[in-house]
Parts: sequence; structure tokens; C-alpha cells
Amino acid sequence: MTVSTERFQKATIIFRKDHTEDLWSIRVRPEVPLVFKPGQYATLGIEEEGKVVERSYSICSSPHEAEVEFFFELVMRGRVTPPLYHRQVGDNLLMRRNAKGTFTLDGRVGHKQHLLVCTVTGVAPYVSMARTLAREARLGHYSGAKLVVLQAASRSWEFAYRDELESLAHEFSWVKYVPIVSRPWEDPEWKGEVGRVEDILRKYIDDLGFVPPHTTVYLCGHPQMIENGKGILRRRGFSKESIRGEVYWAPQKEIS
Ligand SMILES: Cc1cc2nc3c(=O)[nH]c(=O)nc-3n(C[C@H](O)[C@H](O)[C@H](O)COP(=O)(O)OP(=O)(O)OC[C@H]3O[C@@H](n4cnc5c(N)ncnc54)[C@H](O)[C@@H]3O)c2cc1C
Repeated sequence: MTVSTERFQKATIIFRKDHTEDLWSIRVRPEVPLVFKPGQYATLGIEEEGKVVERSYSICSSPHEAEVEFFFELVMRGRVTPPLYHRQVGDNLLMRRNAKGTFTLDGRVGHKQHLLVCTVTGVAPYVSMARTLAREARLGHYSGAKLVVLQAASRSWEFAYRDELESLAHEFSWVKYVPIVSRPWEDPEWKGEVGRVEDILRKYIDDLGFVPPHTTVYLCGHPQMIENGKGILRRRGFSKESIRGEVYWAPQKEIS
């Protein structure tokens, strides 16, 4: 098979960390550095029966880092994640040369308060944003942005970037991280927030004063969470322009 080298380049895996049996992160080194903004995604491909099969993946790393980092969830019957799961350090992937996406920190409405809501791997773009703003702040260029990350997962061991986000929250008063477990009966030791992220969302909007018209809310990951979240936010008075969504996959159609 001839892969278009105009569109694709090779990216070599130089680090891999398994968080659970179906969640893992990798860092890759592309042949040519990828230019992107925090919140954008890359298109990764694997070669299968003479064709390139591609999927989008939000970039976790910050543009200033030498390697590009991704956080994956294995979809058992998926086409791309099972072969990706078997790639180890030293193996290659295909990566489109251009990053894409508009799920970046809002430049349009000019809000400084950003409520970043996600399910599991949907934290990836927020890690990129937080790393980038933290670096700028350490260099003395803090923009005045406030970030609150609400991350939902079934159980606490799925919060792969929890230590990093907690440590940023400890370092900077303008970062807050709230992990939320939706199946506390499977995680009896968990002492933090429990429930559905959409419901916890309401509480934090009011408690933190992250209210319209000063706040942009970002919703990333599970399609149902995004749909429910949008409804709640619209009813709470957020304008369409103040709600941003990044849907990771299409919801399955109900068969009646
Ligand atoms: C902008 C964007 C950014 C994304 N970023 C990430 C990321 O950072 N990390 C990440 O892991 N994925 C991310 N995704 C999802 C990713 O593109 C793939 O859809 C996902 O990895 C599944 O690919 P697959 O080929 O293994 O499964 P597919 O063959 O595409 O899907 C098989 C079936 O599983 C469903 N499905 C797909 N993903 C999931 C899921 N996570 N849970 C439950 N059902 C699912 C599909 O609707 C389909 O019915 C992103 C998607 C978009 C659009």
C-alpha cells in the first residue's frame, strides 16, 4: 500500500503508560513537529488490508512539549483502538500532518472563566489547556483565565490525569479539579463527589459563581453527557455561544 506522505507522517511511540486494562496514554515523536493549539485533535491512522483507517484523538500535551501525548480508551469491538492497543514503545503510527478542531479556549466571547466538563478520556484537551496556561503562568505571563475541570468516570482508578491536575490546582489558585465517580457501589473507598456529571455541574456553577454571562462551559466525551449537559446549561441561562461541545462518538440508535 502507498500511504500519502503529503497527508500522513510516521509517529514513533516513545513512551507508554497503562492506567487500567482499557485506558492508556502514549507519547509519540512525529517525523515533523505537529503544530496545534491546546484543545485541538490529531488524526491517527493504522494500516489495515491495504487501507488507512483513521480516527480523531484530542492532544493531551501542550504545544511546547517535544512529544505529542494521547489518552485512549480501548473500545472492544472497535476498528482502530484494538490494533492501537497492541502498539508498544518503538512501534509507529500514521498521523495526519495537520491538527484540527475548534475546541480551544474561547477567544470569541472573551470569558475568563472556563468550566471544563468531561467523561474519562474527554479530559485530554483540558490537560493540554492546563499545561499550557501553567507554563505561561510560570514564565510570568498568566492570562487571568480560571479553569475548573469536572471529570466523570465510573470508578476512581479511571482518573488517569488526577495527580497532575490536583498538583496544578495545588500550585495555582485559578485551577480547580473535581473528579466525580458515577458507580460508587463499585468503588466503596471513594470519598469524593458521586453521581452524574450533569447533576454535579449545576452545583458547581452556583457554588463557584461560574454563572452566565461570565463563563464558557466546555463539554467533552460521551455524547449523552454532552446532550444532557447542554440542556441543563441552556435552562440555567447559558447562551449557545457560551457552550462548546466535543462529541467523541455517535450515540447508538435505539432499536425498538
Ligand atoms: C474530536 C475527537 C476527539 C477524540 N479524542 C479521543 C481521545 O482523546 N481518546 C479516545 O479514546 N477517543 C477519542 N475520540 C474517539 C475516537 O475518535 C474513536 O471514535 C474511538 O477511539 C473508537 O475508535 P474505534 O475505531 O476503536 O471504534 P469504532 O470502530 O469507531 O466504533 C465502534 C463502536 O463503538 C462506539 N464507540 C466509539 N468510541 C466509544 C467509546 N469511547 N465508548 C463507547 N462506545 C464507543 C461507536 O459509536 C461504534 O458504535 C475522539 C473523537 C473525536 C471526534
